[in-house]
Amino acid sequence: MSVATLAADQSVCPPLPVLGRDVRVPLVTGGEVTYAALDYAASAPALQRVWDDVAAYAPYYGSVHRGAGYLSQLSTELFENSRAEVAAFLGCRPGDQVVFTRSTTDSLNLLAAVLPAGCRVFVFETEHHAALLPWPAGHVTVLDAPRSPRQAVEILERALADRDPHGPALVCVTGASNVTGELWPVRELAAAAHAHGARIVVDAAQLAPHHPVDIAACDVDWVAFSGHKLYAPFGSGVLAGRADWLTRARPYLAGGGASRTVARGGDGGLDVEWHTTAARHEAGSPNVIGAYAIAAACKALTEAGFERLVEREQRLVARVREGLAGVPGVRVLSLFGDDAPRVGVLSFVVDGWNSSHFAAALSAEYGIGVRDGLFCAHPLVRVLLGGERDEPGECGAPDGERSLNAVRVSFGAGTPDE
Ligand code: PLP
Repeated sequence: MSVATLAADQSVCPPLPVLGRDVRVPLVTGGEVTYAALDYAASAPALQRVWDDVAAYAPYYGSVHRGAGYLSQLSTELFENSRAEVAAFLGCRPGDQVVFTRSTTDSLNLLAAVLPAGCRVFVFETEHHAALLPWPAGHVTVLDAPRSPRQAVEILERALADRDPHGPALVCVTGASNVTGELWPVRELAAAAHAHGARIVVDAAQLAPHHPVDIAACDVDWVAFSGHKLYAPFGSGVLAGRADWLTRARPYLAGGGASRTVARGGDGGLDVEWHTTAARHEAGSPNVIGAYAIAAACKALTEAGFERLVEREQRLVARVREGLAGVPGVRVLSLFGDDAPRVGVLSFVVDGWNSSHFAAALSAEYGIGVRDGLFCAHPLVRVLLGGERDEPGECGAPDGERSLNAVRVSFGAGTPDE
């Protein structure tokens, strides 16, 4: 696929304007180039549109749910409208809650904090640490890495069939891998979970920025994602989905805003009535601008035509794959096989190169920003490279020696076509 073909195809979206697209960086060889951000999977540059929306609102903000003043009322309305915007973006069902958190990590820790007593959690070893680690020790079943989407469903079904059918259970699975970019069979895994009486949460940190998410259509119970990967700034995230576990449990954060009434109790303690809305888990003054920015990003992607952005990203993936295929010694990492559908995220290793040094060279010599390492998914990288590379530690071995790390390139709505 040539650049000219891509540019000439009118059905394809142009890149969306993002912050930092004109940044010039120095090269070790002298001179400078325009920075090429190929690390969207770590943090995507904020959309200019999101920045503009936030800048337009920022001079007028006031405290939410706390003030009678005009600006407090305006902020409260914008905050609650942001929830509605996110709910629409995710295809939430009536009655679902959208809780604003700090990040995907925070969202999954929140869900871990509200698990019903005795809940068993099932996770594939291939998950990001944010999805592997929050669950209560002793209550987690770690599933082997599958080698196809179908095998993922089979492995999960076998594990769920073996569990105590009377206790609550939760499956936590990624929507798209942060290492391989491969899409996981979320709908089929949800069906398997529900057939065995389990709930399912999707770690959509890499899915939501690259692919439409539809909670109702996929019949998943919760979805978690981060603002800073969805073209909004840092410090805000979302947990959206079923209200029941959320409203039954003690608040994740206790304090003002989460409580409806607080009074001295008869036993010398306190009688507290907690909210049953999303506010139950949002104690303290919330990150209103962060929530507003996420909603602005959801709106911008929807208005740009998310499906067209996805199509454009698929063409970029195809071009990068084609380019890498022409470089001797490059191997693109994959769990499900070369033809598996993936978002705009892919990792590779290069024969004779330590991945950290390769990534550093891309930066210093070409101004290209990528990520290297194990991507907070150590067990997955071991599966992908295991037995083939030595394991000297996160930073890897010197050039020419083998190392347990890889280079990741990732892109999205703001990536230029050339
Ligand atoms: N899940 C996946 C698949 C990710 O890629 C990441 C971040 O890289 C996370 C979870 C954690 O996101 P955050 O650091 O925003 O909490």
